Amino acid sequence: MARRRFPSSTSAATRARYAKRRQRRLDRVDNDLTPAQWDTLVLQWGGCAYCGTTTAALQKDCVLPISRGGRYTVTNVVPACTSCNASKHNSEVSGWLRRKRLDEGAFLLRHAEILRALSPD
Ligand SMILES: [Zn+2]
Repeated sequence: MARRRFPSSTSAATRARYAKRRQRRLDRVDNDLTPAQWDTLVLQWGGCAYCGTTTAALQKDCVLPISRGGRYTVTNVVPACTSCNASKHNSEVSGWLRRKRLDEGAFLLRHAEILRALSPD
């Protein structure tokens, strides 16, 4: 039987290559919101996702804050007015909506509907 010539060096190099590839894939999956997806989100929500205002400038808000493990992905970003964005900050979304006396159920339902429309499968 043929023996592998450089078992240790080969496996180390291979491991490093796979690790790098996995990191690139994670980076891509974690923060993959494209400008086109953002335009679609703004269009679908038609205003601030939380308070519904249509007159304010909209910012990208992570439903699950970055500090809690959220990322800039189409499933985690919603348009928010500067006031809601600043107020929500690092809060967990459900508790914050309730504290603000905003309609938590309506937000969650609309969010689910928009995500379904964006990815039919
Ligand atoms: Zn708002």
